[in-house]
Amino acid sequence: MSDENVDVLVIGAGPSGCVAASYLQKSGCVIKVVEKSKFPRFVIGESLLPRCMDHFEETGLLDCLKAQNFEVKEGARFIKGKEVCDFDFSKKHTEGWNWTWQVPRADFDIVLVNELIERGVDITLEQEVIDVIFNDDGTSITTIKTKEGQINTIGAKYIIDSSGYGRVLPRLLNLEKPSELLNQSSIFAHVKDVKRPEGWEGTRITFDVIDTRTWFWVIPFSNGTTSIGFVGSTEFIESFTGNSTKKLADMLKLSDYYHDRFEGVDFLFHPVEIKNYSKSVTNLYGKGYVLTGNSAEFLDPVFSSGVTFATESALLAAKLITKELQNIPVNWEVEYADYIKKGVNVFATYVKEWYTGNLQKIFFHKPENPEIKKQICAVLAGYVWDETNPFVKNHHRLVKTVAHIIDMEKGKSE
Ligand SMILES: Cc1cc2nc3c(=O)[nH]c(=O)nc-3n(C[C@H](O)[C@H](O)[C@H](O)COP(=O)(O)OP(=O)(O)OC[C@H]3O[C@@H](n4cnc5c(N)ncnc54)[C@H](O)[C@@H]3O)c2cc1C
Repeated sequence: MSDENVDVLVIGAGPSGCVAASYLQKSGCVIKVVEKSKFPRFVIGESLLPRCMDHFEETGLLDCLKAQNFEVKEGARFIKGKEVCDFDFSKKHTEGWNWTWQVPRADFDIVLVNELIERGVDITLEQEVIDVIFNDDGTSITTIKTKEGQINTIGAKYIIDSSGYGRVLPRLLNLEKPSELLNQSSIFAHVKDVKRPEGWEGTRITFDVIDTRTWFWVIPFSNGTTSIGFVGSTEFIESFTGNSTKKLADMLKLSDYYHDRFEGVDFLFHPVEIKNYSKSVTNLYGKGYVLTGNSAEFLDPVFSSGVTFATESALLAAKLITKELQNIPVNWEVEYADYIKKGVNVFATYVKEWYTGNLQKIFFHKPENPEIKKQICAVLAGYVWDETNPFVKNHHRLVKTVAHIIDMEKGKSE
């Protein structure tokens, strides 16, 4: 016997958990969200993609977010020395949102949680899932520890694991598998952006390419602070010595474009390091559970796909569970795993080809090919399921082929 019984238990109240909970509540399911942290809490993942606006809209979470006046993101700029490649989401192959936001996640995530609490969703903060036992029929009993150390149990027909890097079910059920991506690591902080230039230049999200494996992000927020971070091979990140403040300050010298703007600025907290951040799993679902967001998979921050993947997978998981609760059969392999893997595989190709240098070659090639740019722009906006886009449908081949053509043209002209 458990202390409480629900249709669906959602683990974690990040964007993934909140989108799932919002959809399930609207469809009349009895749900509970259990979240380990006290909110607001810091989490990285601040540059969103237009595609996630569809998810917030569909789950009724868009208006509460719009009211916050977060910094609007209308594209993304990549720079490499003097070369620039600027994507504008209004010029993309796939129909859809042309903008999204750059958000301090502590502020963003608490807006979602407060909205759900206001709507009467049962969310408990500062309670940690420490164990789950599944019965043969897929129902489960979850053990929760409160911050006072009290133990409670919850019975559920389904569990949505949206626990991010907590990776509750991957750990408990031994589902973790090594990522196929390179070992990359990151160090980042927020700064008071006191030398921020006026206008567009000051607010534009930018990725400054230091070398093929190493890049620097600048994500300005509407509150005057800016997120900055370096990404590089784990060996590169580990080659810097001292505490994390010294390491990040030393790395900043590598950015010709931004060094002056951020020289000597105060970090608002000790820079955070995450090593070997890419994660994967053997199964995305099982009897009585489904993994969403980072708990399922995390590729790489270079195309800001994390939150969008988290909300895409959460919304789909919530829809399929609702169907099953209405006794409509669901083929989880086809309707969930295949669909999610399709999108993940497109992004995975782009991440891999970024670090081989092929994609960087295409981004910085001049003159630009406007049609190719529109098609790649749709991928960068998160519309990675649109098979009318050749850069989605033929992602395995096309990036390599175009990079090869650029090489051949260059060879001829030399
Ligand atoms: C260096 C770096 C940069 C990134 N930059 C971007 C970016 O620019 N844009 C982007 O979209 N993504 C980015 N990401 C990815 C992004 O951080 C995640 O994809 C996103 O936060 C996933 O959302 P989520 O809801 O799955 O998990 P989270 O937002 O991490 O939420 C999970 C929640 O589960 C809770 N939890 C954990 N364990 C338990 C437990 N045992 N019991 C109860 N609750 C628990 C946690 O407290 C947390 O609140 C970046 C990642 C890295 C590593």
